[in-house]
Amino acid sequence: MHDKTRYDVAIIGGGPAGLSAAVWLARYLHSVILIDSGDPRNWETRGINGFMGHPGVRPAELRGMGRDEARELDVELVDALCERVACHDDEHFQLILGDGRKVDARRLLLAIGLKDVWPDIPGLERVYGSSAHICPDCDGHECVGKKVVVLGKGRKAVGLALNLTTWTRDIIICTNGASADFDLDEYAEKLDALNIPVLESPITCVKHDGSRLQSIEFEDGLQLDVDKMFFAIGQYPADDLGAQLGCERDEGGHIIVDDNYNTSLRNCYAAGDIVPGPQLAIAAAADGAIAALAIHKSLVPEGQKLESSDPQPVESQSQAG
Ligand SMILES: Cc1cc2nc3c(=O)[nH]c(=O)nc-3n(C[C@H](O)[C@H](O)[C@H](O)COP(=O)(O)OP(=O)(O)OC[C@H]3O[C@@H](n4cnc5c(N)ncnc54)[C@H](O)[C@@H]3O)c2cc1C
Repeated sequence: MHDKTRYDVAIIGGGPAGLSAAVWLARYLHSVILIDSGDPRNWETRGINGFMGHPGVRPAELRGMGRDEARELDVELVDALCERVACHDDEHFQLILGDGRKVDARRLLLAIGLKDVWPDIPGLERVYGSSAHICPDCDGHECVGKKVVVLGKGRKAVGLALNLTTWTRDIIICTNGASADFDLDEYAEKLDALNIPVLESPITCVKHDGSRLQSIEFEDGLQLDVDKMFFAIGQYPADDLGAQLGCERDEGGHIIVDDNYNTSLRNCYAAGDIVPGPQLAIAAAADGAIAALAIHKSLVPEGQKLESSDPQPVESQSQAG
């Protein structure tokens, strides 16, 4: 029976990062509470691609499996928004939930994820996750030989268009009324060489058949037949908890961590999309697992572990087999 007056670990965020950490920490017999507001970034993905062993698994299904596993291991799952968090000392974090409940824990893991900036285009919400996407790594494979529009401007749009040339050469950049913002000659040169045109006219709407994108209509009367759309507008942290704690962050709001996913604040960890690096479900789950191992080590009493030794030279390390 765990002492619930102060949990060993509080996890904020129940996506792949938070749930994976919860499962690992519970397997080390720590008392774990996971608070999740139920608003994941990939809410509209039809299926998660590239999660080995679960091709096309729906986000809710993956979470459901993670939650069932965590529950079996005695993780306390709380469906709530964490509104405030404070660090009283190295061994005491206090969370205040939306209903006023206070949660105290010795370690904290922030797995709150990111949000995407949405272009204001009528019809887009109907095709999002099905034929409108944000991540070429996740959904590029489904674009082989397809007509693709990249929505955005500047370096972000150029980078996204170039990424997509792995799968298709039928690409147009639409800036939706903004200036293309190509401040480096390299951008226009590369796009010209790959025959990627840029349209700056504002978009009035996207036409669709159910969740399948059909065309894009522009203010100047042009109608463009399109199979897929990617947008590169921007992203931001799902919540300001990192800022509340004073954790070091980069210019995009990602929380900076070390190799063990420890933030600049002792005993406060972060994992998943909220830290810099690839934004993939399987990477978030791996982050959560590595953070959990580090959190566990930090909770093991000194008498139960050896002092760290200098790393051995490679040739003297034991080899398997
Ligand atoms: C449209 C789309 C399609 C994608 N497709 C793929 C794909 O095909 N393959 C792939 O590998 N990846 C894909 N991704 C990326 C993948 O979804 C993310 O990398 C992954 O979900 C990140 O996991 P996470 O646990 O860090 O964050 P999330 O899954 O976003 O979970 C964060 C959780 O934290 C909760 N939260 C935030 N703030 C608080 C708070 N204050 N209190 C309580 N809870 C809070 C949120 O409600 C949310 O449930 C896609 C993303 C998007 C947006």
